[in-house]
Amino acid sequence: MRRLEAHPHRDPLGTPRVSASFDGTPSTRSTVWGSLAPRSKMHTIAKRAMSSTAFDLDHAYTRAAALITRAQGLIIAAGAGMGVDSGLPDFRGPQGFWSEYPALGRAGIRFEAIASPDAFRSDPELAWGFYGHRLKLYRETPPHAGFVILQQIARQLPRQSFVFTSNIDGQFQKSGYDDAHVLECHGSIHYLQCLENCTDSILPSTAVEPIIDANRCRMLNALPQCPSCLGLARPNVLMFGDWEWNAARTEAQESRLDAWLSGIEQAVVIEIGAGTAIATVRRFAEARRFALVRINPREPRVHRTQDVGIPVGAREGIEGIARALGIPH
Ligand SMILES: [Zn+2]
Repeated sequence: MRRLEAHPHRDPLGTPRVSASFDGTPSTRSTVWGSLAPRSKMHTIAKRAMSSTAFDLDHAYTRAAALITRAQGLIIAAGAGMGVDSGLPDFRGPQGFWSEYPALGRAGIRFEAIASPDAFRSDPELAWGFYGHRLKLYRETPPHAGFVILQQIARQLPRQSFVFTSNIDGQFQKSGYDDAHVLECHGSIHYLQCLENCTDSILPSTAVEPIIDANRCRMLNALPQCPSCLGLARPNVLMFGDWEWNAARTEAQESRLDAWLSGIEQAVVIEIGAGTAIATVRRFAEARRFALVRINPREPRVHRTQDVGIPVGAREGIEGIARALGIPH
């Protein structure tokens, strides 16, 4: 049996407060640290206490599998952590972001500043240097095996699955998901809109072939143009301070999700790699009336007894659930 002996969020003393498992099951031996014992016995008791508070991954996978087996369909709610096992950056904090884009770090430009319509207005080559680099990266990066395994899990269920993701990278579609069953709540980098929103049109960015000077974070070739006003085009993604984002494509996806949900009595939400800093995916996952399986190596805690928290990375968590379901991968 595989056990996770420690978790970064747990108090190193293993106090009773944290002895409850992430799936809400209280530990029956959690008061051992509060008892007085002869000094010679402390080591033994300490070891027993650690064992009683250790997280049982196999048990969590078994519970997740039981929830999935009873469901008609799967809602996959994914955040930036989903792409980490493919080698994609998740931009955690300014230092994490600047290590990926050193030119922006040298200039002291934060993620929130470059990911904004103002950046496209004040320095379009720099803004497109950032987004063009990401467009190339997402096109060139194959999705990790967890994406396909999730589809194998979904195929076991009568209504299969629907994806809700804050990722703009298009990795679900790239791995074979039906585009009609994906909701990209922050839009997609694979589509363009007019910077000034002169038209309702949203166009695929397939014709954009960015040539990027990564040392300077600049796009060197001609910048994408709005076909209507011939002004600058930008990615159809929701940025910071973004009043011009054209949400039409995402709204159409929301309608498709509503239609899919309308025929479903019992589903299960598998939330993967969704952080608390920008909590759109977490809020979506927790707002459902369905049971939740939360795969997250840093913030796995869940709040209802029916839910399951699994404190590992995306690919490992998906593989563990597939194993518990007896799905070969
Ligand atoms: Zn325009």
